[in-house]
Amino acid sequence: METMTDYLNTDDQNLREQLNRAHRDLSVLYDISNAMRTTLELNHILYIILTGVTAHFGLGFNRAILFLVNQKDQCLECKMVIGPESGEDAQKIWRHIGEANEDLEDLISADKIAQHINHQSAYPTIRALKIPIGTQEHNLLATAYIKGTPLHITRDTISQYANDPLLQVFHTNELVIMPLKAKDKINGLIVADNLYTQKPITSEDLKIFTMLANQAGLAIENSQLYEIIVQKSHTDSLTNLWNHGFFQHKLSEELEKAQKANLPLSLAIIDIDNFKRLNDTYGHQNGDIILRELAHVLRKSSRETDYICRYGGEEFSIILPQTNKEQALTIAEQIRQAIAQQEFPNFLPNKNLKVTVSIGLATHSTDAATKENLIAKADKAMYIAKFSGKNMTCASQPETA
Ligand code: GH3
Ligand code: MG
Ligand code: MG
Repeated sequence: METMTDYLNTDDQNLREQLNRAHRDLSVLYDISNAMRTTLELNHILYIILTGVTAHFGLGFNRAILFLVNQKDQCLECKMVIGPESGEDAQKIWRHIGEANEDLEDLISADKIAQHINHQSAYPTIRALKIPIGTQEHNLLATAYIKGTPLHITRDTISQYANDPLLQVFHTNELVIMPLKAKDKINGLIVADNLYTQKPITSEDLKIFTMLANQAGLAIENSQLYEIIVQKSHTDSLTNLWNHGFFQHKLSEELEKAQKANLPLSLAIIDIDNFKRLNDTYGHQNGDIILRELAHVLRKSSRETDYICRYGGEEFSIILPQTNKEQALTIAEQIRQAIAQQEFPNFLPNKNLKVTVSIGLATHSTDAATKENLIAKADKAMYIAKFSGKNMTCASQPETA
């Protein structure tokens, strides 16, 4: 009996190959866009996108780098790199893929994502890249960003770009730069290549990559909007510091970490001295100006790792992770002195105004084991500072049995 294939001439076979490919491409797109819908966390989204670009069941590129636009600094910042670092590395990975037979769901499991995000040690020079995108810039990434269309640099043309800041650290002989779009705005770029397989990049590859990039651009935008909303819901609108809700949540989280790792953690509660008098003298709105100014001083005089919060009213709190009492006292004193010395030349009602604060400190685990006790102890220490004459720091003492 004759089979269907016997009837198919070469044209039909080509057609069937095209159909197969279209089918595969569509199902890749479908799987990736479904996966992107399962999370709003930016890092997870980026990982899913790059997995789609590099996985053997996805677009199958050897390596991919994702850059996001930083509008404020007018540059593209590298956010993630996926791909083997050497030929041997590639062989190892592909052997593992062959044996493990993982599908997309396996690759983007929460474990895998966390593993990747926590161990981003590969390609340090690429991950440090920040490429300017002003209209005066003549680098490959800026060109793709400004044009908004994919840029395919072939083996024949690549030598013209030897001095390009990307190619200086990303050594390859053919690559594609794909803009990521949300509506009409470019929010990022993906760079991909096939250094290890040396498989040429075809127009078919570019077509499906463009479709994936359009989905990816939208998913990134959604996630960025979501992050802005989350950030806002944790922020005090007057001072831009973390709000009380966030303070409570973060303190629980940091205490748990401290307990697990057996590390100290200190808490400072800061209350403005005689703030009622300031309000009564200059009015509430002027009082608000001072609250905002003090928030600046707090930010300037603490460390990156500290969480500065508006505890409520005219009280602030600072979570000091991995900080023992002695270190906390030094930081608190720095803050107290910075505030006492602060000048307010733009405070029109009184350009010579001086403000002081009283600070209470408590340290886990020497003073208190639970969150509630830690807050109560820091609060009590702050009141001792008030009763002892204000403008001072008091540290709580461990309970004596
Ligand atoms: P002490 O030195 O003992 O802390 O005296 P104090 O006057 O600062 O303390 P008190 O608790 O009597 O007053 C706190 C004042 O802080 C009362 C309130 O009007 C003011 N306050 C609280 N929240 C705000 C705010 O958001 N804006 C302004 N302008 N004032 C606030
Ligand atoms: Mg108060
Ligand atoms: Mg006060």
